[in-house]
Amino acid sequence: MSDMKIGVVGCAGRMGITLLKQIAAAEGCLIAGGTERAGSEAIGRDVGVVAGLDALGIVVVDDPAALIAEADAILDFTIPDATVVHAGLCAQHGTAHIIGTTGMDPEHHAAIAEAATKTAVMQAGNMSVGVNLMVEITRRVAATLDANWDVEVVEMHHRHKVDAPSGTALMLGRAAAEGRGIDHDKNAVRGRDGITGERKKSTIGYASLRGGNVVGDHTVHFVSDNERIELTHKASDRALFARGAVTAALWARDRAPGHYNMADVLGFGDA
Ligand code: NAD
Repeated sequence: MSDMKIGVVGCAGRMGITLLKQIAAAEGCLIAGGTERAGSEAIGRDVGVVAGLDALGIVVVDDPAALIAEADAILDFTIPDATVVHAGLCAQHGTAHIIGTTGMDPEHHAAIAEAATKTAVMQAGNMSVGVNLMVEITRRVAATLDANWDVEVVEMHHRHKVDAPSGTALMLGRAAAEGRGIDHDKNAVRGRDGITGERKKSTIGYASLRGGNVVGDHTVHFVSDNERIELTHKASDRALFARGAVTAALWARDRAPGHYNMADVLGFGDA
């Protein structure tokens, strides 16, 4: 089988650069090109050089249409508005869309779900094996414990992160809500400030810390009157997310249209 052609949108970002390096190092795929937002300093530079690799003879462009038409898959760790534009183009061309972008609102999610009726879309707030396993464990623990156990999700990330709670924290909170059989959005308490009143039973609380270069720490606390369980994951290198994204792209090759998640890719969604 020929190498899979993978494009990176937002290729000069923290994840974009990591993704380019990962594609270059992985078997069975090659870099099809890269895009950046209009006005980025990376526009017109060689895609390989932007990532600290050898020159590839392909320059970074600000219009994703040609890249998405030509590539077999697109890796997208950008911003929600851009991801929705990419989703429309991927749907039009049947290009697999691997989405890591977080901070989406319901309109963004709806647009992506629509695109997933026309092409394979793999969307995950976190692409690490460890976190996706922790999501499954969180669901099971929440299903086992009764509502006398309060659930709180605490996350810490680097000082440049723009959205809170993190996409991963929300994945974990949603898994806890599913396990407990409650509606997540109606029960989520996304940060507390001032006279908040007592904690309501069955809510799922979130707290976000920001600082330094922390790649991503998450702890789900299950707290009863007498004992606590804490499930913790710490990411130490963002290359692990890039490895997950490239694995997902290879998995998505020739896959039927659908809205997939990392548990599907890793094969433990129904474990
Ligand atoms: P970043 O700001 O370093 O990179 C984002 C890049 O997207 C920037 O270079 C920006 O210029 C570019 N961009 C913005 N608009 C664009 C457009 N219209 N077209 C092309 N490029 C555009 O941020 P980051 O730390 O790399 O994170 C990016 C996203 O990925 C965030 O939402 C973050 O939360 C998420 N993330 C997800 C995972 C995961 O495993 N799912 C892991 C890490 C980060």
